[in-house]
Amino acid sequence: MKISHEITFHGVGQGLFVSGKVSSEGRCLDYVYDCGGETSSRILKGAIGETASNMDGSGLDILFLSHLHLDHVSGLPFLLKKLKAIGGVKNVVLPYMYPAERAALAGFADETGGYPPDPSGWYLKFLKAPAAYLVEHGVEKVYFVHGGDGPDTPPLEEIMPRPPDDESNRNNQGRGDGVRWDVKFIGKSKVAENEKDAYAAEESAVGGDALSGIEWLDSSSSSIGVPDWFFLLYNKKAPDHKLVRLREDFHDILAGRSIEDVLMDRMARSEVRIAYEHMFGATKLNDTSLAVLSAGRVQQGYGSGMDILSERVSMSKRARKLHSIYVEEIEETRPPCGSLLGTVLLGDLPAKEEWGHLSRKFGLAAVGRRTLVSTYQVPHHGSVKNWCEHQAQLAGRPTYVISAGIHNRHGHPCPEVLRDIALSGNPAVWVNENMTFRHTQEIN
Ligand SMILES: [Zn+2]
Repeated sequence: MKISHEITFHGVGQGLFVSGKVSSEGRCLDYVYDCGGETSSRILKGAIGETASNMDGSGLDILFLSHLHLDHVSGLPFLLKKLKAIGGVKNVVLPYMYPAERAALAGFADETGGYPPDPSGWYLKFLKAPAAYLVEHGVEKVYFVHGGDGPDTPPLEEIMPRPPDDESNRNNQGRGDGVRWDVKFIGKSKVAENEKDAYAAEESAVGGDALSGIEWLDSSSSSIGVPDWFFLLYNKKAPDHKLVRLREDFHDILAGRSIEDVLMDRMARSEVRIAYEHMFGATKLNDTSLAVLSAGRVQQGYGSGMDILSERVSMSKRARKLHSIYVEEIEETRPPCGSLLGTVLLGDLPAKEEWGHLSRKFGLAAVGRRTLVSTYQVPHHGSVKNWCEHQAQLAGRPTYVISAGIHNRHGHPCPEVLRDIALSGNPAVWVNENMTFRHTQEIN
């Protein structure tokens, strides 16, 4: 069975917007990972428009949001609006944030200054009740991911989508030429009923998200996919004892008011931010980033030997001036390999601290199951704080993609990160206002 996977890192400046398409035998699956940028909304809207026009008219199957910072979600209103006319968004998968964390996010957005949230604007409505906001804007199903990973992560075989064995996958007719796959959410959520009730009670106490109709996924035991392609999730759970204290502080600041009142009050927003910083340091909630491994299974599993038929990397430039670190066109055939082939998407995950869990979960470690990585999103726009040398020692021949604005205020990407990648001999690409990166693979 021939599978083709195309992934595009859109040049949106400081931020991240990735779109992917999996197709096989006339079926296809579209997904998006993050949709935001700090810079010109014109550039972001252009990229969203382009993505929408590349879809076949039967909707976006999965939208992953790594975390709720504006540089990762600022395009959300436009994306939802744009897609509404062409089948809408079927599933959104995002990490769950407590009301206190969401109020802190509003405070951080004020701090960064470049894009202060407009009180009447969408961002505060979204932070008030993310699931309700999404459903109101046409999303069919919202999945919250409950972070954390334990030693009891089941073997991949148990949470891997099965090959097509029945007709159920053929029923879902799209309006385009292809037949849609039913995206399956596999794995049993370990989020206990009483825990869900506690979340709901917390939300209702502050007038936040109703959480009705939403589903919970557990990053240690879930996968999402179609028979030939799947997505593994990983995110970290904030330490409970700190969360408990943050929520106590939050309730003190609320003093009986609702989360909406606090979100609308700049002083109160900043108080929650300060409480958050006091507890968690200046991580600014990047820690909660939801990482996704988007992978096809090579050879093991679905019958006859699979191999990579062709691979093509292309870059399009908007301007003449070349800001990329490295430009390369690859077209090659590789020998069969009994492994997984994947794209690693990390958002702003602190991959350095999380490397033990992350590498085990995604098969990136030097020992054990190894994922052949074709594209690796360098976490947090190439920040050194999220980087470790291990990330330069992946199996496969990954292209390292850094999404960062040309003149960003944060010093991204960091020279140490670039040095490690350069020493690994693998290509690195800086996706920015002038550069979009696309990687296409055909697997058989
Ligand atoms: Zn970011």
